[in-house]
Amino acid sequence: MKVLVATEKPFAKKAVDGIKEIIEAAGLELVLLEKYTDKAQLLEAVADVEGIIIRSDKVTAEVIAAAKNLKIVVRAGAGYDNVDLAAASERGIVVMNTPGQNSNAVAELALGMMVYMARNQFNAGTGSELQGKTLAIHAYGNVGRLVGLKGKALGMNVIAYDPFITDEAVFERDGVKKMNSVAELYAAADYLSLHIPATAETKGSIGYDLAMSMPKGATLVNTARKEVINEEGLMKAMEEREDLKYITDVAPEAKDAYAEKFGKRYFGTPKKMGAETAEANINAGLAAARQTVGYLKEGITKFQVNK
Ligand code: NAD
Repeated sequence: MKVLVATEKPFAKKAVDGIKEIIEAAGLELVLLEKYTDKAQLLEAVADVEGIIIRSDKVTAEVIAAAKNLKIVVRAGAGYDNVDLAAASERGIVVMNTPGQNSNAVAELALGMMVYMARNQFNAGTGSELQGKTLAIHAYGNVGRLVGLKGKALGMNVIAYDPFITDEAVFERDGVKKMNSVAELYAAADYLSLHIPATAETKGSIGYDLAMSMPKGATLVNTARKEVINEEGLMKAMEEREDLKYITDVAPEAKDAYAEKFGKRYFGTPKKMGAETAEANINAGLAAARQTVGYLKEGITKFQVNK
């Protein structure tokens, strides 16, 4: 059985070596397609493989149709909006992500982004401190929780909203105040750190009204997905309120307009970099390899996202 590692942006060498070791120790064959520039290369590479490991690479219905033997796709990372889940499910193909493996990298970036905005993007002028400010976490999953704990270590007052975590003890244990609505969360947020996944429900859900409800001088920090923002709505709010700030991994579609209108109140990374650490890269790659082997050899479906 063959497992393809298809990465437009390759894994670190150490990760590839580890993946190879795990795949081959299980008696499977590794096929490597790195830095491909054309969809045709991917379509050809998937033709006879049973498993595919990807990063931000797009596994569309067309790719799935071209992969006649495909049984599993593992996205080395958390978000899996780059995989056509419906097309995979239709063929009985299992799709997994590797939750938690890159969370620390993303959480550290989120805190770094807060400091960067609090200190005028490292330009001259009087900045402010994070200590004593309210850090509001929108979605208390793997990344959100780590951001909360790190924020507490910096002396921030941490609050969170996640309607899918019904066990109050999760928040109590971390000393984090559970909020009962999105409205309550934003109204109290000096720093709002976004960690919701991009879904049909959440796309474009953060816009004018929520931004306008934030306290004076608030900063919106987005290490989730640019798609969850209603760009026009947020822009309108930032035009009306000269105290609001927005920092995002990765830049909005309207990045030039944002940069021009808002100067140092806005920053967008040119490329998504939340998970771009050597540690996250290796952790996610190895987990993807283990999960692929676990499914192909033993039928283990832990972390399946298209049940
Ligand atoms: P996770 O699955 O561990 O947590 C997601 C949380 O969101 C869950 O607790 C879930 O209950 C909650 N949630 C889902 N829908 C919600 C809604 N409508 N309102 C409020 N909460 C909701 O995922 P994670 O590892 O914490 O990652 C979060 C997101 O961050 C990912 O979906 C991904 O898009 C993004 N991400 C970005 C980078 C990057 O490089 N910038 C890297 C990793 C993850």
